[in-house]
Amino acid sequence: MTSPRPAIVWYREDLRLSDHPALHAAASTQAPVVCIFVLDERTPGVRPLGGAARWWLAQSLRALQESLRDRGASFVLRRGSASTVIAGLAREVDAGAVYWNEIAQAPQQRAADQVAAALGGVRTHRSPGDLLVAPSQIRNKENRGLRVFTPFWRRVQSLGDPPKPVPAPTKLNGISGIASDALEDWHLEPTRPDWAGGLRENWRPGEAAAQARLKAFLAGGIAGYSGDRDRPDREGTSLLSPHLRFGEISPRQVWHAAKFAAAEHPRLSSDIDKFLSELGWREFCRHLLYDVPDLATRNLQASFDAFPWKHDTKALRAWQRGLTGYPIVDAGMRELWHTGVMHNRVRMVVASFLVKHLLIDWREGEQWFWDTLVDADAGSNPANWQWVAGCGADAAPYFRVFNPILQGEKFDPDGVYVRRWVPEVKQLPDKVIHQPWTATPLELASAGIELGKTYPRPIIDHKAGRERALAAYASIRNA
Ligand code: FAD
Repeated sequence: MTSPRPAIVWYREDLRLSDHPALHAAASTQAPVVCIFVLDERTPGVRPLGGAARWWLAQSLRALQESLRDRGASFVLRRGSASTVIAGLAREVDAGAVYWNEIAQAPQQRAADQVAAALGGVRTHRSPGDLLVAPSQIRNKENRGLRVFTPFWRRVQSLGDPPKPVPAPTKLNGISGIASDALEDWHLEPTRPDWAGGLRENWRPGEAAAQARLKAFLAGGIAGYSGDRDRPDREGTSLLSPHLRFGEISPRQVWHAAKFAAAEHPRLSSDIDKFLSELGWREFCRHLLYDVPDLATRNLQASFDAFPWKHDTKALRAWQRGLTGYPIVDAGMRELWHTGVMHNRVRMVVASFLVKHLLIDWREGEQWFWDTLVDADAGSNPANWQWVAGCGADAAPYFRVFNPILQGEKFDPDGVYVRRWVPEVKQLPDKVIHQPWTATPLELASAGIELGKTYPRPIIDHKAGRERALAAYASIRNA
Protein backbone atom coordinates (compact mmCIF):
# COMPACT_ATOMS: atom_id res chain seq x y z
CA MET A 1 0.00 0.00 0.00
CA THR A 2 1.39 3.47 -0.87
CA SER A 3 1.32 6.07 1.90
CA PRO A 4 -0.81 9.19 1.30
CA ARG A 5 0.90 12.26 -0.11
CA PRO A 6 1.61 14.99 2.44
CA ALA A 7 -1.01 17.55 3.39
CA ILE A 8 -0.06 21.21 3.82
CA VAL A 9 -1.92 23.33 6.38
CA TRP A 10 -1.61 27.05 5.71
CA TYR A 11 -1.79 29.05 8.93
CA ARG A 12 -2.82 32.72 8.89
CA GLU A 13 -4.88 34.34 11.66
CA ASP A 14 -5.73 31.05 13.34
CA LEU A 15 -2.67 30.27 15.46
CA ARG A 16 -4.08 27.34 17.40
CA LEU A 17 -4.52 23.56 17.28
CA SER A 18 -8.00 23.12 18.74
CA ASP A 19 -11.08 24.09 16.76
CA HIS A 20 -8.89 24.40 13.70
CA PRO A 21 -11.05 22.84 10.98
CA ALA A 22 -8.25 22.84 8.39
CA LEU A 23 -5.77 21.07 10.67
CA HIS A 24 -8.49 18.69 11.83
CA ALA A 25 -9.40 17.77 8.25
CA ALA A 26 -5.77 17.33 7.19
CA ALA A 27 -4.97 15.19 10.23
CA SER A 28 -7.94 12.93 9.67
CA THR A 29 -6.49 11.81 6.31
CA GLN A 30 -3.55 10.19 8.20
CA ALA A 31 -1.22 11.87 5.70
CA PRO A 32 2.00 13.49 6.90
CA VAL A 33 1.19 17.10 7.81
CA VAL A 34 3.34 20.12 7.03
CA CYS A 35 2.12 23.36 8.61
CA ILE A 36 3.28 26.67 7.23
CA PHE A 37 2.99 30.33 8.14
CA VAL A 38 3.90 32.80 5.42
CA LEU A 39 4.97 36.31 6.32
CA ASP A 40 3.33 37.87 3.31
CA GLU A 41 4.09 41.56 2.97
CA ARG A 42 3.68 41.47 -0.78
CA THR A 43 0.05 40.60 -1.48
CA PRO A 44 -1.67 43.93 -2.13
CA GLY A 45 -4.45 45.06 0.17
CA VAL A 46 -3.43 43.08 3.27
CA ARG A 47 -2.67 45.73 5.88
CA PRO A 48 0.86 45.35 7.28
CA LEU A 49 0.82 44.68 11.02
CA GLY A 50 1.67 47.47 13.44
CA GLY A 51 4.60 47.23 15.86
CA ALA A 52 2.75 45.82 18.88
CA ALA A 53 0.93 43.23 16.78
CA ARG A 54 4.22 42.13 15.22
CA TRP A 55 5.56 41.52 18.71
CA TRP A 56 2.47 39.44 19.52
CA LEU A 57 2.76 37.49 16.30
CA ALA A 58 6.34 36.46 17.12
CA GLN A 59 5.34 35.11 20.53
CA SER A 60 2.29 33.39 19.15
CA LEU A 61 4.25 31.68 16.37
CA ARG A 62 6.78 30.45 18.92
CA ALA A 63 4.00 28.96 21.06
CA LEU A 64 2.38 27.32 18.02
CA GLN A 65 5.70 25.94 16.82
CA GLU A 66 6.16 24.23 20.17
CA SER A 67 2.64 22.78 20.26
CA LEU A 68 2.91 21.44 16.72
CA ARG A 69 6.33 19.97 17.39
CA ASP A 70 4.97 18.24 20.51
CA ARG A 71 2.37 16.51 18.35
CA GLY A 72 4.87 15.49 15.70
CA ALA A 73 4.08 17.96 12.89
CA SER A 74 6.54 20.15 11.03
CA PHE A 75 6.05 23.93 11.19
CA VAL A 76 7.67 25.89 8.41
CA LEU A 77 8.14 29.66 8.38
CA ARG A 78 8.69 31.34 5.05
CA ARG A 79 8.50 34.86 3.74
CA GLY A 80 7.16 36.11 0.40
CA SER A 81 3.96 36.16 -1.56
CA ALA A 82 1.73 33.37 -0.25
CA SER A 83 0.94 31.95 -3.69
CA THR A 84 4.61 31.59 -4.69
CA VAL A 85 5.70 30.23 -1.33
CA ILE A 86 2.91 27.67 -0.92
CA ALA A 87 3.05 26.45 -4.50
CA GLY A 88 6.83 26.06 -4.03
CA LEU A 89 6.40 24.08 -0.82
CA ALA A 90 3.74 21.88 -2.45
CA ARG A 91 6.23 20.95 -5.20
CA GLU A 92 8.99 20.40 -2.70
CA VAL A 93 7.07 17.90 -0.55
CA ASP A 94 4.88 16.56 -3.38
CA ALA A 95 1.75 17.59 -1.48
CA GLY A 96 -1.55 15.90 -2.23
CA ALA A 97 -3.65 18.75 -0.82
CA VAL A 98 -3.47 22.15 0.85
CA TYR A 99 -5.84 23.02 3.69
CA TRP A 100 -6.70 26.40 5.18
CA ASN A 101 -9.33 28.27 7.14
CA GLU A 102 -11.07 31.09 5.34
CA ILE A 103 -10.77 34.72 6.43
CA ALA A 104 -13.86 36.71 5.50
CA GLN A 105 -11.92 39.73 4.22
CA ALA A 106 -11.54 40.63 0.57
CA PRO A 107 -7.71 40.87 0.38
CA GLN A 108 -7.24 37.60 2.24
CA GLN A 109 -9.78 35.90 -0.01
CA ARG A 110 -7.94 37.22 -3.05
CA ALA A 111 -4.68 35.90 -1.62
CA ALA A 112 -6.32 32.49 -1.08
CA ASP A 113 -7.64 32.44 -4.64
CA GLN A 114 -4.14 33.21 -5.90
CA VAL A 115 -2.76 30.33 -3.84
CA ALA A 116 -5.39 27.97 -5.27
CA ALA A 117 -4.56 29.11 -8.83
CA ALA A 118 -0.80 28.74 -8.28
CA LEU A 119 -1.28 25.20 -6.97
CA GLY A 120 -2.49 23.98 -10.35
CA GLY A 121 -3.80 20.46 -9.89
CA VAL A 122 -3.11 20.13 -6.16
CA ARG A 123 -6.36 19.73 -4.26
CA THR A 124 -7.39 22.60 -1.98
CA HIS A 125 -9.66 22.38 1.03
CA ARG A 126 -11.13 25.52 2.60
CA SER A 127 -12.96 25.62 5.92
CA PRO A 128 -14.89 28.42 7.58
CA GLY A 129 -12.69 29.95 10.21
CA ASP A 130 -12.75 33.30 11.92
CA LEU A 131 -16.44 34.02 12.49
CA LEU A 132 -19.53 32.65 14.20
CA VAL A 133 -21.58 33.09 11.02
CA ALA A 134 -20.51 33.65 7.42
CA PRO A 135 -21.39 37.13 6.09
CA SER A 136 -23.38 35.47 3.27
CA GLN A 137 -25.85 34.22 5.91
CA ILE A 138 -26.80 37.68 7.10
CA ARG A 139 -27.98 39.89 4.26
CA ASN A 140 -30.83 42.34 3.82
CA LYS A 141 -33.22 42.44 0.84
CA GLU A 142 -30.64 44.31 -1.26
CA ASN A 143 -28.13 41.55 -0.46
CA ARG A 144 -26.11 43.86 1.75
CA GLY A 145 -24.84 43.22 5.27
CA LEU A 146 -26.82 44.80 8.11
CA ARG A 147 -25.62 48.19 9.30
CA VAL A 148 -27.33 48.31 12.68
CA PHE A 149 -26.04 46.14 15.50
CA THR A 150 -29.26 45.14 17.30
CA PRO A 151 -31.03 43.51 14.33
CA PHE A 152 -27.70 42.03 13.25
CA TRP A 153 -27.16 40.35 16.60
CA ARG A 154 -30.79 39.20 16.75
CA ARG A 155 -30.29 37.56 13.36
CA VAL A 156 -27.06 35.84 14.45
CA GLN A 157 -28.78 34.46 17.54
CA SER A 158 -31.78 33.30 15.53
CA LEU A 159 -29.47 31.01 13.57
CA GLY A 160 -28.83 29.00 16.74
CA ASP A 161 -25.54 27.74 18.07
CA PRO A 162 -22.59 27.72 15.66
CA PRO A 163 -21.07 24.28 14.99
CA LYS A 164 -19.33 22.68 17.97
CA PRO A 165 -15.56 23.23 18.07
CA VAL A 166 -13.46 20.37 16.72
CA PRO A 167 -10.75 18.94 18.99
CA ALA A 168 -7.02 19.37 18.51
CA PRO A 169 -5.38 16.35 16.89
CA THR A 170 -3.54 14.32 19.52
CA LYS A 171 -0.85 13.14 17.15
CA LEU A 172 0.34 14.25 13.73
CA ASN A 173 2.79 12.70 11.31
CA GLY A 174 5.45 15.17 10.29
CA ILE A 175 8.18 15.25 7.67
CA SER A 176 11.67 16.16 8.71
CA GLY A 177 14.27 18.20 6.88
CA ILE A 178 12.09 20.95 5.36
CA ALA A 179 13.85 24.29 5.28
CA SER A 180 12.33 27.04 7.40
CA ASP A 181 13.25 30.64 8.13
CA ALA A 182 14.40 31.40 11.65
CA LEU A 183 11.78 33.51 13.39
CA GLU A 184 14.47 35.90 14.64
CA ASP A 185 15.39 36.73 11.05
CA TRP A 186 11.94 38.24 10.53
CA HIS A 187 12.75 40.95 13.11
CA LEU A 188 9.19 41.05 14.39
CA GLU A 189 10.32 42.07 17.86
CA PRO A 190 11.86 45.45 18.64
CA THR A 191 15.51 45.51 19.63
CA ARG A 192 16.94 49.02 19.43
CA PRO A 193 15.19 50.33 21.37
CA ASP A 194 13.42 47.36 22.94
CA TRP A 195 10.12 48.99 23.85
CA ALA A 196 8.29 45.70 24.44
CA GLY A 197 9.04 45.37 28.19
CA GLY A 198 5.47 46.34 29.13
CA LEU A 199 4.05 43.84 26.66
CA ARG A 200 6.17 41.04 28.09
CA GLU A 201 5.12 42.01 31.61
CA ASN A 202 1.43 41.92 30.79
CA TRP A 203 0.86 39.13 28.30
CA ARG A 204 1.42 35.49 27.59
CA PRO A 205 0.47 34.98 23.93
CA GLY A 206 -0.49 31.55 22.62
CA GLU A 207 -3.34 29.06 22.66
CA ALA A 208 -2.69 27.65 26.14
CA ALA A 209 -2.81 31.13 27.69
CA ALA A 210 -5.95 32.01 25.72
CA GLN A 211 -7.76 28.90 26.95
CA ALA A 212 -6.61 29.50 30.51
CA ARG A 213 -7.85 33.09 30.37
CA LEU A 214 -11.27 32.09 29.07
CA LYS A 215 -11.59 29.37 31.69
CA ALA A 216 -10.61 31.67 34.56
CA PHE A 217 -12.90 34.42 33.33
CA LEU A 218 -15.94 32.15 33.03
CA ALA A 219 -15.16 30.55 36.39
CA GLY A 220 -15.20 33.81 38.30
CA GLY A 221 -14.40 37.07 36.57
CA ILE A 222 -17.63 37.19 34.61
CA ALA A 223 -19.84 37.73 37.68
CA GLY A 224 -20.86 41.38 37.50
CA TYR A 225 -19.50 41.80 33.94
CA SER A 226 -22.48 43.89 32.77
CA GLY A 227 -21.53 46.71 35.15
CA ASP A 228 -17.84 46.10 35.68
CA ARG A 229 -17.03 46.06 31.98
CA ASP A 230 -17.32 49.85 32.05
CA ARG A 231 -14.93 50.28 34.98
CA PRO A 232 -11.29 50.72 34.02
CA ASP A 233 -10.39 50.67 37.71
CA ARG A 234 -11.53 47.04 37.98
CA GLU A 235 -10.47 43.82 36.31
CA GLY A 236 -13.91 43.34 34.85
CA THR A 237 -13.37 42.05 31.31
CA SER A 238 -11.94 38.92 29.72
CA LEU A 239 -8.81 40.42 28.06
CA LEU A 240 -9.33 37.93 25.27
CA SER A 241 -9.12 40.42 22.40
CA PRO A 242 -5.51 39.83 21.25
CA HIS A 243 -6.01 36.07 21.56
CA LEU A 244 -9.11 36.35 19.37
CA ARG A 245 -7.31 38.69 16.99
CA PHE A 246 -4.62 36.11 16.26
CA GLY A 247 -7.01 33.19 16.33
CA GLU A 248 -5.38 31.57 19.35
CA ILE A 249 -8.94 30.91 20.37
CA SER A 250 -11.95 30.85 18.06
CA PRO A 251 -15.17 32.80 18.58
CA ARG A 252 -17.14 29.58 18.52
CA GLN A 253 -15.00 28.14 21.33
CA VAL A 254 -15.80 31.25 23.34
CA TRP A 255 -19.48 30.99 22.42
CA HIS A 256 -19.85 27.34 23.44
CA ALA A 257 -17.83 27.73 26.66
CA ALA A 258 -19.95 30.74 27.63
CA LYS A 259 -23.22 28.93 26.89
CA PHE A 260 -22.04 25.97 28.94
CA ALA A 261 -21.20 28.27 31.86
CA ALA A 262 -24.64 29.91 31.59
CA ALA A 263 -26.36 26.51 31.71
CA GLU A 264 -24.31 25.49 34.76
CA HIS A 265 -24.75 28.79 36.60
CA PRO A 266 -28.10 30.36 35.63
CA ARG A 267 -27.45 33.32 37.96
CA LEU A 268 -24.65 34.36 35.59
CA SER A 269 -26.78 34.21 32.47
CA SER A 270 -27.40 37.95 32.08
CA ASP A 271 -23.66 38.71 32.46
CA ILE A 272 -22.90 35.95 29.97
CA ASP A 273 -25.47 37.29 27.49
CA LYS A 274 -23.82 40.69 27.73
CA PHE A 275 -20.39 39.15 27.21
CA LEU A 276 -21.63 37.25 24.16
CA SER A 277 -23.12 40.41 22.72
CA GLU A 278 -19.63 41.99 22.91
CA LEU A 279 -18.37 39.04 20.93
CA GLY A 280 -21.26 39.98 18.65
CA TRP A 281 -19.71 43.43 18.16
CA ARG A 282 -16.52 41.78 16.97
CA GLU A 283 -18.60 39.76 14.53
CA PHE A 284 -20.52 42.87 13.43
CA CYS A 285 -17.29 44.78 12.74
CA ARG A 286 -15.87 41.87 10.74
CA HIS A 287 -19.07 41.56 8.68
CA LEU A 288 -18.91 45.28 8.02
CA LEU A 289 -15.31 44.95 6.87
CA TYR A 290 -16.36 42.16 4.53
CA ASP A 291 -18.76 44.58 2.84
CA VAL A 292 -16.48 47.61 3.09
CA PRO A 293 -12.86 46.55 2.52
CA ASP A 294 -11.68 50.18 2.75
CA LEU A 295 -13.28 50.68 6.17
CA ALA A 296 -10.02 52.11 7.59
CA THR A 297 -9.81 54.89 5.05
CA ARG A 298 -13.32 55.78 3.84
CA ASN A 299 -16.05 57.52 5.85
CA LEU A 300 -19.06 55.23 5.81
CA GLN A 301 -21.19 58.35 5.71
CA ALA A 302 -20.06 60.34 2.72
CA SER A 303 -21.22 63.64 4.27
CA PHE A 304 -18.12 63.40 6.48
CA ASP A 305 -15.87 63.79 3.44
CA ALA A 306 -16.43 67.53 3.88
CA PHE A 307 -15.69 67.57 7.62
CA PRO A 308 -13.34 70.43 8.57
CA TRP A 309 -10.58 68.36 10.24
CA LYS A 310 -7.67 70.27 11.71
CA HIS A 311 -4.04 69.42 11.02
CA ASP A 312 -2.57 69.95 14.45
CA THR A 313 0.62 67.98 14.90
CA LYS A 314 1.31 69.40 18.33
CA ALA A 315 -2.09 68.37 19.68
CA LEU A 316 -1.82 64.94 18.04
CA ARG A 317 1.57 64.40 19.73
CA ALA A 318 0.20 65.46 23.11
CA TRP A 319 -2.64 62.96 22.70
CA GLN A 320 -0.33 60.14 21.60
CA ARG A 321 2.01 60.71 24.54
CA GLY A 322 -0.68 61.08 27.17
CA LEU A 323 0.01 64.76 27.84
CA THR A 324 -3.35 66.40 27.17
CA GLY A 325 -3.91 67.59 30.75
CA TYR A 326 -7.04 65.40 31.11
CA PRO A 327 -5.99 62.56 33.45
CA ILE A 328 -8.45 59.97 32.11
CA VAL A 329 -7.30 60.59 28.51
CA ASP A 330 -3.64 60.56 29.50
CA ALA A 331 -4.05 57.40 31.58
CA GLY A 332 -5.60 55.60 28.62
CA MET A 333 -2.92 56.65 26.17
CA ARG A 334 -0.16 55.60 28.56
CA GLU A 335 -1.86 52.29 29.33
CA LEU A 336 -1.95 51.68 25.59
CA TRP A 337 1.73 52.49 25.14
CA HIS A 338 2.80 50.29 28.03
CA THR A 339 0.50 47.27 27.73
CA GLY A 340 -0.66 47.27 24.10
CA VAL A 341 -4.32 47.51 25.08
CA MET A 342 -6.65 50.07 26.60
CA HIS A 343 -9.89 49.56 28.46
CA ASN A 344 -12.91 49.80 26.14
CA ARG A 345 -14.59 52.66 28.01
CA VAL A 346 -11.36 54.65 27.89
CA ARG A 347 -10.86 53.85 24.19
CA MET A 348 -14.18 55.61 23.61
CA VAL A 349 -13.17 58.58 25.74
CA VAL A 350 -9.75 59.10 24.11
CA ALA A 351 -11.16 58.58 20.62
CA SER A 352 -13.93 61.09 21.24
CA PHE A 353 -11.37 63.54 22.64
CA LEU A 354 -9.16 63.31 19.56
CA VAL A 355 -11.97 63.56 17.05
CA LYS A 356 -14.28 66.00 18.78
CA HIS A 357 -12.25 68.16 21.17
CA LEU A 358 -9.19 68.31 18.95
CA LEU A 359 -11.02 67.95 15.60
CA ILE A 360 -8.30 65.61 14.38
CA ASP A 361 -9.28 63.16 11.65
CA TRP A 362 -10.33 59.78 13.11
CA ARG A 363 -7.93 58.08 10.66
CA GLU A 364 -4.96 59.53 12.56
CA GLY A 365 -6.22 57.94 15.76
CA GLU A 366 -7.08 54.70 14.03
CA GLN A 367 -3.54 54.45 12.64
CA TRP A 368 -1.99 55.16 16.06
CA PHE A 369 -4.12 52.42 17.59
CA TRP A 370 -3.21 50.12 14.71
CA ASP A 371 0.48 50.57 15.50
CA THR A 372 0.25 50.32 19.27
CA LEU A 373 -2.54 47.80 20.03
CA VAL A 374 -1.71 44.12 20.38
CA ASP A 375 -5.35 43.43 19.48
CA ALA A 376 -5.33 45.79 16.44
CA ASP A 377 -8.07 44.35 14.31
CA ALA A 378 -8.81 45.24 10.69
CA GLY A 379 -12.55 45.26 11.46
CA SER A 380 -12.97 46.33 15.08
CA ASN A 381 -10.47 49.17 15.03
CA PRO A 382 -11.78 51.25 12.11
CA ALA A 383 -15.42 50.33 12.80
CA ASN A 384 -15.15 51.60 16.38
CA TRP A 385 -13.29 54.74 15.33
CA GLN A 386 -15.95 55.51 12.76
CA TRP A 387 -18.64 54.81 15.35
CA VAL A 388 -17.10 57.27 17.82
CA ALA A 389 -16.55 59.89 15.12
CA GLY A 390 -20.20 59.59 14.12
CA CYS A 391 -19.49 58.68 10.52
CA GLY A 392 -19.82 54.91 10.84
CA ALA A 393 -22.45 52.21 10.70
CA ASP A 394 -24.82 52.31 13.64
CA ALA A 395 -23.24 55.69 14.38
CA ALA A 396 -23.40 57.31 17.78
CA PRO A 397 -25.20 60.64 17.52
CA TYR A 398 -22.79 63.35 16.40
CA PHE A 399 -23.75 65.55 19.35
CA ARG A 400 -22.50 63.02 21.88
CA VAL A 401 -19.21 64.58 22.93
CA PHE A 402 -17.82 62.63 25.85
CA ASN A 403 -16.96 64.87 28.77
CA PRO A 404 -13.57 63.57 29.93
CA ILE A 405 -14.10 64.90 33.44
CA LEU A 406 -17.51 63.32 33.98
CA GLN A 407 -16.43 60.08 32.31
CA GLY A 408 -13.52 59.88 34.72
CA GLU A 409 -15.66 60.68 37.75
CA LYS A 410 -18.31 58.17 36.76
CA PHE A 411 -16.20 55.20 35.71
CA ASP A 412 -13.08 55.74 37.83
CA PRO A 413 -14.72 57.35 40.87
CA ASP A 414 -11.80 56.87 43.26
CA GLY A 415 -9.17 57.70 40.67
CA VAL A 416 -7.59 54.26 40.97
CA TYR A 417 -7.05 53.89 37.21
CA VAL A 418 -5.75 57.42 36.72
CA ARG A 419 -3.34 57.13 39.65
CA ARG A 420 -1.95 53.89 38.21
CA TRP A 421 -1.06 55.47 34.88
CA VAL A 422 -0.53 59.14 35.65
CA PRO A 423 1.69 59.16 38.74
CA GLU A 424 2.20 62.93 38.50
CA VAL A 425 -1.31 63.49 39.88
CA LYS A 426 -1.31 60.58 42.31
CA GLN A 427 -1.31 62.69 45.47
CA LEU A 428 -4.30 64.85 44.52
CA PRO A 429 -7.51 64.41 46.52
CA ASP A 430 -10.25 62.32 44.82
CA LYS A 431 -12.52 65.31 44.26
CA VAL A 432 -10.06 66.95 41.84
CA ILE A 433 -8.22 63.91 40.50
CA HIS A 434 -10.04 64.17 37.16
CA GLN A 435 -9.60 67.94 36.88
CA PRO A 436 -6.30 68.97 38.47
CA TRP A 437 -6.63 72.55 37.22
CA THR A 438 -9.50 73.08 39.68
CA ALA A 439 -7.35 72.12 42.67
CA THR A 440 -6.45 74.91 45.09
CA PRO A 441 -2.85 76.16 45.13
CA LEU A 442 -2.44 74.41 48.46
CA GLU A 443 -3.78 71.09 47.10
CA LEU A 444 -1.46 71.35 44.12
CA ALA A 445 1.52 72.20 46.27
CA SER A 446 0.93 69.37 48.72
CA ALA A 447 0.50 66.95 45.79
CA GLY A 448 3.83 68.16 44.37
CA ILE A 449 2.22 69.46 41.17
CA GLU A 450 3.19 72.54 39.27
CA LEU A 451 0.64 72.80 36.48
CA GLY A 452 2.23 73.42 33.10
CA LYS A 453 5.53 72.00 34.42
CA THR A 454 5.10 68.67 36.19
CA TYR A 455 1.74 67.99 34.52
CA PRO A 456 0.16 69.90 31.60
CA ARG A 457 -2.75 72.25 31.78
CA PRO A 458 -5.65 71.04 29.56
CA ILE A 459 -4.66 71.53 25.94
CA ILE A 460 -8.22 72.63 25.24
CA ASP A 461 -11.02 73.78 27.50
CA HIS A 462 -13.79 71.15 27.56
CA LYS A 463 -16.67 73.55 27.02
CA ALA A 464 -14.95 75.45 24.22
CA GLY A 465 -13.92 72.17 22.56
CA ARG A 466 -17.43 70.83 22.75
CA GLU A 467 -18.93 73.94 21.19
CA ARG A 468 -16.33 73.96 18.42
CA ALA A 469 -17.07 70.29 17.68
CA LEU A 470 -20.82 70.89 17.52
CA ALA A 471 -20.29 73.81 15.13
CA ALA A 472 -18.08 71.65 12.89
CA TYR A 473 -20.65 68.87 12.85
CA ALA A 474 -23.44 71.36 12.15
CA SER A 475 -21.45 72.68 9.18
CA ILE A 476 -21.54 69.32 7.38
CA ARG A 477 -25.14 68.65 8.33
CA ASN A 478 -26.25 71.99 6.90
CA ALA A 479 -24.17 71.44 3.79
P1 FAD B 1 -14.47 41.92 26.69
O1 FAD B 1 -15.32 42.97 27.29
O2 FAD B 1 -14.10 40.78 27.55
O3 FAD B 1 -15.24 41.44 25.38
C1 FAD B 1 -15.06 40.13 24.80
C2 FAD B 1 -14.64 40.28 23.36
O4 FAD B 1 -15.65 40.94 22.60
C3 FAD B 1 -13.39 41.09 23.14
O5 FAD B 1 -12.23 40.34 23.38
C4 FAD B 1 -13.54 41.55 21.71
O6 FAD B 1 -13.13 40.54 20.81
C5 FAD B 1 -15.04 41.73 21.57
N1 FAD B 1 -15.42 43.13 21.77
C6 FAD B 1 -15.72 43.76 22.92
N2 FAD B 1 -16.09 45.04 22.68
C7 FAD B 1 -16.01 45.22 21.35
C8 FAD B 1 -16.26 46.31 20.48
N3 FAD B 1 -16.69 47.52 20.92
N4 FAD B 1 -16.05 46.15 19.15
C9 FAD B 1 -15.63 44.97 18.66
N5 FAD B 1 -15.40 43.89 19.43
C10 FAD B 1 -15.58 44.01 20.75
N6 FAD B 1 -11.23 45.65 19.73
C11 FAD B 1 -10.35 44.83 19.12
O7 FAD B 1 -10.40 43.61 19.34
N7 FAD B 1 -9.43 45.33 18.25
C12 FAD B 1 -9.33 46.66 17.97
O8 FAD B 1 -8.48 47.06 17.17
C13 FAD B 1 -10.22 47.54 18.65
N8 FAD B 1 -10.15 48.88 18.44
C14 FAD B 1 -11.02 49.72 19.10
C15 FAD B 1 -10.96 51.09 18.85
C16 FAD B 1 -11.83 51.97 19.50
C17 FAD B 1 -11.78 53.45 19.23
C18 FAD B 1 -12.79 51.45 20.41
C19 FAD B 1 -13.76 52.37 21.10
C20 FAD B 1 -12.87 50.09 20.63
C21 FAD B 1 -12.01 49.20 19.99
N9 FAD B 1 -12.06 47.81 20.20
C22 FAD B 1 -11.19 46.98 19.54
C23 FAD B 1 -13.14 47.21 21.01
C24 FAD B 1 -12.85 46.98 22.50
O9 FAD B 1 -12.30 48.12 23.09
C25 FAD B 1 -11.93 45.78 22.77
O10 FAD B 1 -12.37 44.66 22.05
C26 FAD B 1 -11.95 45.43 24.26
O11 FAD B 1 -11.47 46.51 25.02
C27 FAD B 1 -11.12 44.20 24.50
O12 FAD B 1 -11.08 43.89 25.85
P2 FAD B 1 -11.63 42.49 26.36
O13 FAD B 1 -11.08 41.39 25.52
O14 FAD B 1 -11.34 42.42 27.83
O15 FAD B 1 -13.17 42.64 26.08
